[in-house]
Amino acid sequence: MSDYRDKFVLPGRYQLRNKQLWIEYFELARKYKPIDLGIGSPDFLPPDFVLDAFKEAAGSTNNEIYQYTRGAGHPRLVAALSNLHSTLIGREINPHSEIMATLGAYHALFLAIMATVDTGDEVIIMEPFFECFEHNVRTAGGIPRFVPLKPKENTDGTQTNDWVLDYDHLESLFNTKTKAIIVNTPHNPLGKVFTYEELSQIARLCKKWNVVCISDEVYQFLVYGSKKHVSMASLPDMWERTITVCTAGKIFAATGWKLGWAYGPSHLIANLQLIHFSSVRAGNTFLQEVGAICVEKELARLGTTESYLKSSAKDFETKRDFVYDMLSSTGLKPIKPDGGYFMVANWSPLEKHIDLSTEPDEFKDYRFTKWMTKNVGVQGIPISPFYSKEHKHIGENYVRYCFVKTDAYLDKAAQAFRNWKLQLN
Ligand code: PMP
Ligand code: GLN
Repeated sequence: MSDYRDKFVLPGRYQLRNKQLWIEYFELARKYKPIDLGIGSPDFLPPDFVLDAFKEAAGSTNNEIYQYTRGAGHPRLVAALSNLHSTLIGREINPHSEIMATLGAYHALFLAIMATVDTGDEVIIMEPFFECFEHNVRTAGGIPRFVPLKPKENTDGTQTNDWVLDYDHLESLFNTKTKAIIVNTPHNPLGKVFTYEELSQIARLCKKWNVVCISDEVYQFLVYGSKKHVSMASLPDMWERTITVCTAGKIFAATGWKLGWAYGPSHLIANLQLIHFSSVRAGNTFLQEVGAICVEKELARLGTTESYLKSSAKDFETKRDFVYDMLSSTGLKPIKPDGGYFMVANWSPLEKHIDLSTEPDEFKDYRFTKWMTKNVGVQGIPISPFYSKEHKHIGENYVRYCFVKTDAYLDKAAQAFRNWKLQLN
């Protein structure tokens, strides 16, 4: 018997979104109150200059901050962003026609994909991938074509730069239907920082096949050791075909801010702006004003020892090393990230010690992470959601931990891992 509500089920184009990883794990953490190394947000306050910027904007008597602002981005913000990215990529970026301010990087990715991908267009996505890439491509009517990042032969895959693309495989996916490729550097979840040479290989194919590159660079300032971030838009002849996605949340350790932006050539950005004008119209003026103040402050000390971006990367690198030791001494096999917020670890060496039969989930990494939350009191994120349906089994041996937490919080996690290790037989 049909029900009157049958007519109102979620439209088919959104069906893939039924199972929401973040909602499920957010609820799990709320219920069991574990040490939460799952979601990528700091447990500490943003730096003082960010707090001061919020206070400065909130106390302003400039009425412009309380009223609608320019649809594609608050003038003060896009001016500051143009200065920042023009300096970084070595070309003049027009603040009005080449930048689109958004509600976080999720929104920037949504706009970039909706504005680029039409029904039947193919989009190349590297696995593992930040989960919204696939959803957005499918919602736009596009067809995702997956290419894996895999450990090089004769390596144990514990260094993130050992995870590479097979260029022949990559090249075989390009064809006349290919509209875009999505790159994410530094990478979530692997923490891989793509080298100039790797990006050049991708760029060569984008130019050969006339393809847009959507480059998610939200962790561009969080790069560790001697590694350097390279922006795809800075490669020869790539500006014309690259949309770069960024977020203040990750730059300034304030993920709840949800202020992001996309930049690129006007012929691409104009399409994002149009979609934005007809849906949201304009972003939150106050938050954009705060973003402008912070970017201006950081710009004035860019590259100096005073730079917050520099010091936060140094600080997070120490945390990364701590979490690497914590996981390896427990018996997991972590992959050392060169950038970003996260560390992926292979937990399968411990599988024989654990009875996961109490957890009903289809995929083993879901069972493992839920079991850990309930029994060890530390929460991670499963990796199978970062793979397409056909390849989820590859992610099942892995778990993702966020290391951007206070030292005290990480100490508590290390204690929980030590206690657990004592119980392993
Ligand atoms: N892209 C990647 C790779 C991310 O890790 C995240 C989460 N920070 C986003 C996009 C979304 O960022 P935001 O929280 O600003 O929407
Ligand atoms: N990028 C973050 C993560 O991967 C945010 C996820 C989210 O907003 N739900 O944890």
